[in-house]
Amino acid sequence: MRLKDKVALITGAGNGIGLETALLFAAEGAAIVIVDVNDRAGEATASKITSAGGRASFIHADVSRAADCEAMVGHAEETFGKLNILFNNAGISHAQDDDAMSTTEDVWDLTFAINVKGVYLGCKYGIPALKRAGGGAVINTASFVALLGAATPQLAYTSSKGAVLAMSRELAMIHARENIRVNALCPGPLNTELLMKYLDTPEKKQRRLVHIPMGRFGEAKEMAYAALYLASDEASFVTGTAFTVDGGITSAYVTPD
Ligand code: NAD
Repeated sequence: MRLKDKVALITGAGNGIGLETALLFAAEGAAIVIVDVNDRAGEATASKITSAGGRASFIHADVSRAADCEAMVGHAEETFGKLNILFNNAGISHAQDDDAMSTTEDVWDLTFAINVKGVYLGCKYGIPALKRAGGGAVINTASFVALLGAATPQLAYTSSKGAVLAMSRELAMIHARENIRVNALCPGPLNTELLMKYLDTPEKKQRRLVHIPMGRFGEAKEMAYAALYLASDEASFVTGTAFTVDGGITSAYVTPD
């Protein structure tokens, strides 16, 4: 087992990448603290793990709130005795996020509160816990849009993911000699609720698929396997990376027919 005796905290673990990662990490031997604002989804993830014989505990926390982030880390240490892996994964993509002229300040602020401040607050309270455990791994979910611009704009979202990537690099430097690795996971477009609620017609899907060399959307499980590597001791010399798992998008100029 690749995460035997580790304790992992995963935000946004009620759905998508967080859910699949929680299930995979638990199968690899970790105890999981499931964090989400969606209690029903978070509880369901936890009970899937426990009914399969794994260890998991759900706590409701909104990552944009400092008190909630302090509580989720405290919950990890109280319930499982320590924290080894911090996966700051929760994020939103707002329906009214558009170009600079159309995106409202409220949409901008909400996107940054969850996607950027949420990662900072996770680290603010989580990194001291990793230090108390003698070190550990931080994974922050950015996106391929931190690396490429899109003519189907979501300016606040894209900017927020650029901030997550920059933050991850700097955190990696700050903690490089403290046995704490920090990496940004940069997924390509995925077959999860976050994106598919917008790509709700075959035409909209096709507009994106032409840019993906592999010709399909990624699956949350494929991100979970990447997160597993980054979280495990196999990645012991890997820090500060933009770990891209995107079906080839960021290498593309002309894609295959
Ligand atoms: P998802 O919508 O399937 O799941 C996100 C989860 O986060 C949900 O369970 C939601 O309730 C939870 N959440 C939302 N706001 C929260 C908050 N304030 N505090 C705690 N939990 C909160 O999304 P997903 O596709 O699994 O996305 C996970 C991460 O991956 C996000 O950061 C997203 O931006 C990023 N990402 C997604 C894609 C994609 O195409 N789906 C691509 C690149 C990056």
